[in-house]
Amino acid sequence: LRGVVAMDGPSGTGKSTVSRRLAGGLRARYLDTGAMYRAVTLGVLQAEADLADAEAITRIAERAVVSAGTDPERPEIRLDGVDVGVEVRGEAVTKAVSAVAAVPAVRAILVARQQQIIAEALEAEVGIVVEGRDIGEVVAPDAGLKIYLTADAGVRARRRRAQDSAQGRDASIDEIQADVRRRDEFDSTRATSPLRRIADAIEVDTTELDVAGVLAVLNGLVIE
Ligand code: C5P
Repeated sequence: LRGVVAMDGPSGTGKSTVSRRLAGGLRARYLDTGAMYRAVTLGVLQAEADLADAEAITRIAERAVVSAGTDPERPEIRLDGVDVGVEVRGEAVTKAVSAVAAVPAVRAILVARQQQIIAEALEAEVGIVVEGRDIGEVVAPDAGLKIYLTADAGVRARRRRAQDSAQGRDASIDEIQADVRRRDEFDSTRATSPLRRIADAIEVDTTELDVAGVLAVLNGLVIE
């Protein structure tokens, strides 16, 4: 793969797993943009800033050095040089991330960084699979392939729960479903870059598919 694959959609659709495997199979790079929003959010929480204070959040985002690794076998996320891979998946960050991601200056800073990472891949003539919410529309509007992954809400909550218990957390399915809904609602109604399926994205519904099934569909769509 030489170009960009944009993978958008809400959480619990299997987006991260299939994006990484797709990138690995295509010998492409992989970028998890959600991890970058999570890293800035961790910085905001560490600074104990008010989640409603867009100016304070902007100052933190301007100073934060967020670096995302692009190896699909070993995705890495650093905040000011420190590996924060575990912390960014925690409950505190998951609850706060949508509010931080809604601040326009945060998006501007991270989108610029993401575009730089994509440009480096293209310059090196390697492809890159980029996952997020606004990739096909904002980050990489020229992507050769744009995918919008979906799955029904119950299935997404169950997948999130399986992921959580693998990490030692145990929330009830109702709690998780409420959290998934709240984040979707927030992500799709924000003023800047809302989550939505754009006209040139191909929708892939993963409700009835396992990872191998989704990968088979995606591989059929990729033109190497
Ligand atoms: O994909 P993940 O669940 O890690 O994303 C965490 C949050 O980051 C999302 O709920 C969304 O608020 C935000 N996000 C975003 N734009 C992206 C990727 C993630 O706003 N491209």
